[in-house]
Amino acid sequence: MVKMSLLSVVVPCYNEEENVALFYEELIKNEVFFRSKDVELEVLYIDDGSKDRTAERVKKLRERDGRVRLVSFSRNFGKEAAMYAGLEKSKGDYVVLMDVDLQDPPALLPEMYSHIQEGYDSVATRRVSRKGEPPIRSFFARVFYRLMKKISKTEIMDGARDYRLMTRQMVDAILSMQEYNRFTKGIFGWVGFSTKWLEYENVERIKGETKWNFWKLLVYSIEGITAFSTVPLMFASLMGVLFCVVAFLMIVFIIVRKLIFGDPVSGWPSLVCIILMTSGVQFFCTGILGQYLAKTYMEVKRRPIYLIKEEL
Ligand code: UDP
Ligand code: MG
Repeated sequence: MVKMSLLSVVVPCYNEEENVALFYEELIKNEVFFRSKDVELEVLYIDDGSKDRTAERVKKLRERDGRVRLVSFSRNFGKEAAMYAGLEKSKGDYVVLMDVDLQDPPALLPEMYSHIQEGYDSVATRRVSRKGEPPIRSFFARVFYRLMKKISKTEIMDGARDYRLMTRQMVDAILSMQEYNRFTKGIFGWVGFSTKWLEYENVERIKGETKWNFWKLLVYSIEGITAFSTVPLMFASLMGVLFCVVAFLMIVFIIVRKLIFGDPVSGWPSLVCIILMTSGVQFFCTGILGQYLAKTYMEVKRRPIYLIKEEL
């Protein structure tokens, strides 16, 4: 008898009532392929505190197909928390993370699975275009990835999606990172393992709207920076040293000028500029410190990453 293996499909959903069933229909098109490979499916919808009828839609699917599972959060904890919960609750030998809005095409799954069979520990996807996205958003995204490449040792790919198929071993490695401030794109890189990258053109979401606005993305990018780099802290010290050196040179300059020309006062506008500039830099550096302190504060509280209201 052949040993069946299990593939868990983890789908975070937040106010996605229109997409739950559509996603299922698309996904299930791969069933023939997976059955031929002796792979069973389980679909794990993580309802991230939706305010619409997402949970009911999942329950309705579950009546039809017992392989559909539901985990409902007590409130909205964010996609990162939903992905963590999904990985934790998944039972599969392989786990794949997917968006419910069909921006992660289920049609790629057979190809991804075949690469896993070749011996890769994970198969990840990245968008090579950002078609259909506001240009400002694309621009800042690109700036962010370029910056991260400079200031972080962890590899974070430009355009990488969370759409990724992993072996149980890699999933367990990710679960062992129990940090509260989660930046999964960095965590994937941090844990290592061999990764095969697949590329595809951006697909626009079928129904509903993106949950990300500019402000949320900005906060998320700061999350990514503080979680995977301490270079900004070093920047604060470097600025301190630089300003001390400049101040010292100016002291020497003023003393020499006094000795030669004998003119002690004059030049308060320049003084005001210097004071404003230095205090500005000081506030900026205190702000950087504050960011790291805030993250540390949240981490030491050891709050749970998510809370479950219902599980089926
Ligand atoms: N999502 C979630 N919790 C949130 C926000 C989003 O579980 O607080 C889910 C959402 O339902 C979707 C996925 O995360 O399945 C990606 O969200 P979205 O499509 O809004 O992001 P984008 O594709 O625009 O980056
Ligand atoms: Mg989307």
